[in-house]
Amino acid sequence: MKGGAVGAEGALGAGARVARGGVRGDLPEVDAFTRPYWDAAAEGRLLVRRCRAEGCGVAHHYPREFCPRCWSEDVGWEQAGGRAALYTWSVVHRNDLPPFGGRVPYIAAVVDLAEGPRMMTEIVDCPESELRIGMPLVVHFRRGGGEGEGDGGEGGAIPVFRPA
Ligand SMILES: [Zn+2]
Repeated sequence: MKGGAVGAEGALGAGARVARGGVRGDLPEVDAFTRPYWDAAAEGRLLVRRCRAEGCGVAHHYPREFCPRCWSEDVGWEQAGGRAALYTWSVVHRNDLPPFGGRVPYIAAVVDLAEGPRMMTEIVDCPESELRIGMPLVVHFRRGGGEGEGDGGEGGAIPVFRPA
């Protein structure tokens, strides 16, 4: 695949890789496609993708270039309200990958955004004993800056959730 004719595969990729050069290997992919997501996060805004196809309109997360429900490529960015409900969680006591090793224990969670999508994230500012399924949460952006923060890059921020 690598080095293949650009024109032949262009319809699928649609420029998704053009900003790839120079991105560190230890960070999640921040390419031309996901850049708006991380730019918004750095500004304290959570984006989801919403399908614009007639009769669908489903929002999804993580960001994809097509609608996971109807496969339409007519999908656009939308700012989420930042409200969510706790779906499930797990307390992580050990993670050898930096920077997580210095942060254990932490609460890895799956939350249901008010817009519908289910999202993997982390719960902060809440003792484990107070976690309840369905509890209301609100998004909070943790500033990056740590080495290999896994936050989408320099000066970025990652969305985490805390009790509403
Ligand atoms: Zn759709």
